[in-house]
Amino acid sequence: MKILFLDQSGKPGGAELCLIDIAKPYRDRALVGLFADGPFKTLLQQNQISVEVLTTQSIQVKKSSSFLQGLKSLRQIIPLIIKVVKRAKGYDLIYANTQKALVIGAIASFFARRPLVYHLHDILSKEHFSQTNRRIAINLANYFASLVIANSQASQTAFVQAGGRANITTVVYNGFEPKIYQTCESDVRQLQQELGLIGKFVIGHFSRLAPWKGQHILIDALAKCPQQVTVILVGDALFGEQDYVQQLHRQVTALGLKNRVNFLGFRADVPQLMAACDLVAHTSTFAEPFGRVIVEAMLCGTPVVATKAGGAMELIEPGINGFLVQPGDFQELAQVITTCLHERHKTATMAHNARKIASQHFDVKIINQQISQLLSSKFN
Ligand code: UDP
Repeated sequence: MKILFLDQSGKPGGAELCLIDIAKPYRDRALVGLFADGPFKTLLQQNQISVEVLTTQSIQVKKSSSFLQGLKSLRQIIPLIIKVVKRAKGYDLIYANTQKALVIGAIASFFARRPLVYHLHDILSKEHFSQTNRRIAINLANYFASLVIANSQASQTAFVQAGGRANITTVVYNGFEPKIYQTCESDVRQLQQELGLIGKFVIGHFSRLAPWKGQHILIDALAKCPQQVTVILVGDALFGEQDYVQQLHRQVTALGLKNRVNFLGFRADVPQLMAACDLVAHTSTFAEPFGRVIVEAMLCGTPVVATKAGGAMELIEPGINGFLVQPGDFQELAQVITTCLHERHKTATMAHNARKIASQHFDVKIINQQISQLLSSKFN
């Protein structure tokens, strides 16, 4: 089956990293069409996946945009649709991986007479999207998509609650290559030395810097923790959240935590960094659609604490393979951190369980089989 994948982003967020794994088995007969240039294109090329940037400028519609703002972008959208229709004629299927890809892919699927799959990596709720954007996504998916692959039950439920057709949806979790997360001890030790982490209790936060990812909650929690606890913030402001980055730096200074918080920016060595941590904290203040970093921490054998909402609740069974805290509650988070600091043996057992369960449930080979079976049963 020849697949035209579409994704709006030039930067590698969770949805884009997931797309690399899905596209890999189809790389000799697939094209990824991007709506923006950037490092994601390079990552696809490094994985020998054909890629083409289909725009000269990224589409100026945001998750919170109104209908009128959306209309203004028509001048950009129409030529893009025409290009996608042309490309789609050489493929059996259009696979939209993001919301803007759904909009373009849906219309193109109609004109090119190709079936449409929508991979839903979002929670279509009012916290994440404007009402206009939710309506557009639901209506286009309902009318044009033959299949909606939701990345968690939480994303599927939100889709159906917003009016999406339940009978076209199915849940497929993200897949991971367990081997990548088996790190070499000496590499990890060297990293700890380079970053000055030896002898400290290190909490890692791995996510783009954005208010709803809740880095500020972790900093507030850190202020309540013993001195040896330090934080590394791994990730960048991918979608222009520069004000938030400034706010985080001001917060760190105001709380006197400059020596205990290290901003590392975007990194490609997440497994090694996670292995260098004593705990990975996931602090999203709204429901997380899936939460790749939670599974990645598990695969690294590092204990993980996440917020009790969305996909995280499907990944963590508290006390068995991790901890859950209320979103936004920095006091509760500080308590969990202190427990992990004092009860290392118990926490290590939990992390060991988590690694075992995660390598069974999220193995990319099994996940890719699920996707391949779904596609061939629907479209062959
Ligand atoms: N990530 C990365 N480098 C960084 C920060 C994050 O490679 O500096 C990766 C992280 O390992 C994870 C993904 O980005 O695989 C983020 O996915 P997640 O589902 O946690 O969040 P999303 O970006 O989809 O909101």
